[in-house]
Amino acid sequence: MTALPLVFDAPRRGMPPRHLADLTREEARAAVTELGQPAFRADQLARHFYRGVTDPAQMTDVPADARETLAEALLPGLLTVVRHQTADDGRTRKTLWRLHDGALVESVLMRYPGRATVCISSQAGCGMACPFCATGQQGLTRNLSAAEIIGQAVAAAAAMANGDIQGGPGRLSNVVFMGMGEPLANYARVRKTLDALLAPAPHGLGLSQRAVTVSTVGLVPAIRRLTDEGRNVTLAVSLHAPDDELRDTLVPINTRWKVGEVIDAADAYARKTGRRYSVEYALIRDVNDQPFRADLLGKLLAGKLAHVNLIPLNPTPGSKWDASPLPAQREFVARLRAAGVATTVRDTRGQDIDGACGQLAAADSVSVPAVALPVPAVEEPVELGAEGDE
Ligand code: SF4
Repeated sequence: MTALPLVFDAPRRGMPPRHLADLTREEARAAVTELGQPAFRADQLARHFYRGVTDPAQMTDVPADARETLAEALLPGLLTVVRHQTADDGRTRKTLWRLHDGALVESVLMRYPGRATVCISSQAGCGMACPFCATGQQGLTRNLSAAEIIGQAVAAAAAMANGDIQGGPGRLSNVVFMGMGEPLANYARVRKTLDALLAPAPHGLGLSQRAVTVSTVGLVPAIRRLTDEGRNVTLAVSLHAPDDELRDTLVPINTRWKVGEVIDAADAYARKTGRRYSVEYALIRDVNDQPFRADLLGKLLAGKLAHVNLIPLNPTPGSKWDASPLPAQREFVARLRAAGVATTVRDTRGQDIDGACGQLAAADSVSVPAVALPVPAVEEPVELGAEGDE
């Protein structure tokens, strides 16, 4: 397999112990055999993990004298709840997780009529340094392992199944990679996570491809790799500006891959998958919400298999960035629609629990410091190997 040309990545420092969810099925069977157990126990462990069973005592199909050993070796607890916060009458629940090295990440489970979506994190912090984003201000701590990412979705599925979210027991239907981090900068582990989300039980959560959304600020080589690998998940591109001049400042990675290149890569993805991609656009007062920028965006996307998702910015306390006022939002929508571009304004769930990405972890990072590493300079990309950084 060819090397992924140039993407940004976090150091390996702080990576967690081995977990079943990091392994292929063959590797898991081999690991179980090494522990003196028949290979099929790997399937039993997988079934328990994906059902959210964490207590070895509940793994009653595994002999009692083997449960602790197997669980300790292959199902180490990687995510500890620091706290849950609920909003929207209990239908939204945001969880702050502490990882084994003290790093903090968050996920948000949102229940809607007929579906339940969890927004998960793929990195602790983020190295993309978007100035309006709370996570971007923290810098990058490290990549999450596949098991740490998958674990957030498994916990959400278990919360739904157990009826922990207002509305009674239900099923997790959707996963979006829109929490902390740039998923495609942690490519190999995100790819493994996709496999686990899509695989039927006992080896995954059995979600449909269209119900899984991978979001990116526009790491063009990684979008192309995702395209080539034939994953048919939904692609979301965080554009936030239609012109390079503004996007260079709002999304610094744009100095490396320009708007045109990002849209070309997304178009190629749409052609290959037949699936409409989504363009995420945080509406920021007097920064990117002018009518002429709506027209520019309309021109950029007219006739493409794309859908614009406008997100009124959820302001970080003390930040100079603010949400667009309603009249500006309406004007923006109207101009895009007039250009023939499908447009929606995102439901901003969880605003009363600091719902903007990264804010909860940022608030806690004073009392529970993460392993702080310097923000990688966006001008200095790191060469990755064939499997990302594994
Ligand atoms: S907006 Fe997304 S890519 Fe940009 S810094 Fe925040 S988490 Fe990272």
